[in-house]
Amino acid sequence: MIIDCHGHYTTAPDELGDYRQAQEKALADDPRAEGNKGSLNISDDQLRESLEGNQLKMQSDRGTDLTVFSPRASWMGHHIGNEHTSRYWTEHCNELIYRITELYPDNFIGVAQLPQSPGTSMDNSVAELERCVSEFGFIGCNLNPDPSGGFWTGPELGDRYWYPFYEKMCELDVPAMIHVSAACNPNFHTTGSHYLGADTTAFMQMLTSDLLLDFPDIKFIIPHGGGAVPYHWGRFRGLVQAMPDKPELEELVLGNVYFDTCVYHQPGIDLLLDVIPAENILFASELLGAVRGIDPNTGHHFDDTRRYIEASGNATAAEKELIFSGNAERVYPGLTT
Ligand SMILES: [Zn+2]
Repeated sequence: MIIDCHGHYTTAPDELGDYRQAQEKALADDPRAEGNKGSLNISDDQLRESLEGNQLKMQSDRGTDLTVFSPRASWMGHHIGNEHTSRYWTEHCNELIYRITELYPDNFIGVAQLPQSPGTSMDNSVAELERCVSEFGFIGCNLNPDPSGGFWTGPELGDRYWYPFYEKMCELDVPAMIHVSAACNPNFHTTGSHYLGADTTAFMQMLTSDLLLDFPDIKFIIPHGGGAVPYHWGRFRGLVQAMPDKPELEELVLGNVYFDTCVYHQPGIDLLLDVIPAENILFASELLGAVRGIDPNTGHHFDDTRRYIEASGNATAAEKELIFSGNAERVYPGLTT
């Protein structure tokens, strides 16, 4: 059993983009436009067609079984419009994921986008998480630490602002993957720097705040191999050591923080498996996603991450089994209930 904990619906039919464009047009006319949810006319056949030559084919080609599936991250666009914009858009995106999990229950299980909106409370996100878990059987969510889209104007993750959402995560026993959306700050490339920078930034915010101490049962997945975290583990250990009232880094984070394997070369995976305990690593490839090409050095897709894990000498067979499925079942209790 191989569970890919990080997949996005990047191949949605054009109607989804048309809906977003209509929202943006209404906002251009009136930035405070509340609009209404409206409808999205996408048939089951369109959903099947959008997946069969793409994510489903990749699963089959690469021998993975189940993808933990969420809406397209770069399209979350939490900075766009107002809380109504974000709420309607998010509800539609999550409902498409739910329909896909109903069409292909063996291949996909849902993770929620959240209707975050800068300057507003997390109340709508609490409600949407509850709806997605209780009505749709979703098993987690993608939490954007920077809904401004690359300007980091909001409160950091240790701020009390986020606490009602963390309480709901713990109550429902679902983890959050830390995941920003597209950068609208031209200093940042979305997948090349904003994503990796946000992964590293979120991790550091967990160290400098009391978040992990206040929520001892909370679980976060830091994607893209943890950004710069495993590579700079010694720096983080040293920084935490200098903080009064904090235990050492391993004790502080390893009960709560997990790293995925979206690292697209062998030496990177080798380092991840060497530095981070196997129990804290979850298999993922981010299909269909950030880097779509073939590596001329290997002849295989950069994001065919299963190969790197299988080839690595830095984990035992038993540890690799944990990485491929056992850890996911522990981090996402909804996978087994
Ligand atoms: Zn992603």
